[in-house]
Amino acid sequence: MIFFFGTRAAKIKERRLNRTTCPHCSTRDSFTVSTFGNYFHFFWIPIIPLFKKHVAECSHCRKSYAYSQFTPDMRHSLEVENRNNPAKRPIWQGCGCLVITVLFTIVMSLSLYGVYLRSNGEELFEADGDSRKVLLKEDMEKRTTLLHRERDSLSFALKSCIEFDIVSGLDTENIGYFTKKLDDKLLVLLKIRNIDEIKAHYRKDIVDVIEDCIDEIDLNNTIGELYIGVEGKWNMVLIKTPTDADLGGRFADENKLLPFYGPEEFPANTEGSNTDDAPEK
Ligand SMILES: [Zn+2]
Repeated sequence: MIFFFGTRAAKIKERRLNRTTCPHCSTRDSFTVSTFGNYFHFFWIPIIPLFKKHVAECSHCRKSYAYSQFTPDMRHSLEVENRNNPAKRPIWQGCGCLVITVLFTIVMSLSLYGVYLRSNGEELFEADGDSRKVLLKEDMEKRTTLLHRERDSLSFALKSCIEFDIVSGLDTENIGYFTKKLDDKLLVLLKIRNIDEIKAHYRKDIVDVIEDCIDEIDLNNTIGELYIGVEGKWNMVLIKTPTDADLGGRFADENKLLPFYGPEEFPANTEGSNTDDAPEK
């Protein structure tokens, strides 16, 4: 019966046993000792090296002796041989350990990678499958206090308005700005970390300043719809869109900004497709 795992033996070395006499035929120095390395195998792959076994055979009478049957001079001769010419195991007898270690490492890496992918997937899943939330999140991360006069001309103008109009001691240098134009729609996102310097019911003045400012800048009336989102230290505090508003100054629902990116069923292509032409369902 064949077992898929168990122990096997492989001959490692053959050596002569000097200064010995065969107890059976009394021939001198007629012994050859074969050393076998036993190992544990799984599907014939050597996994763990086990004990060694020595068998001596007389070349004259062909009688073989297990180690337990060795005479004292045979044992002594073997000891001398082990010192001078040791029987070393070939490296393959332990290779299964290496193979298992490598396989284990690969499996662990793959499963960790799987967990990583799944956690990323959950992040997207949290966005309800509404790709507009991802777009808004990305745009919120683009708000910056370091504005370039030409490159961020709109944000730059807005910053000037706010610095001019808001004189309540707000640290206007630390306000983050982001503006984005999509067809005739304009998204304005602000991050005001120290908004608590303004009392909640005065905060909506910031939205008025932004609206007036955009009005002033937009001489050719290219902006039809204005979407404003002002975030405080922790959350959105002010939202104003053409159809909705949260102007209490403490908490605003940022989902109200999503129509900027297009209708829910047909997420807008931010590269400039005309979302107004999206077919009605
Ligand atoms: Zn013999």
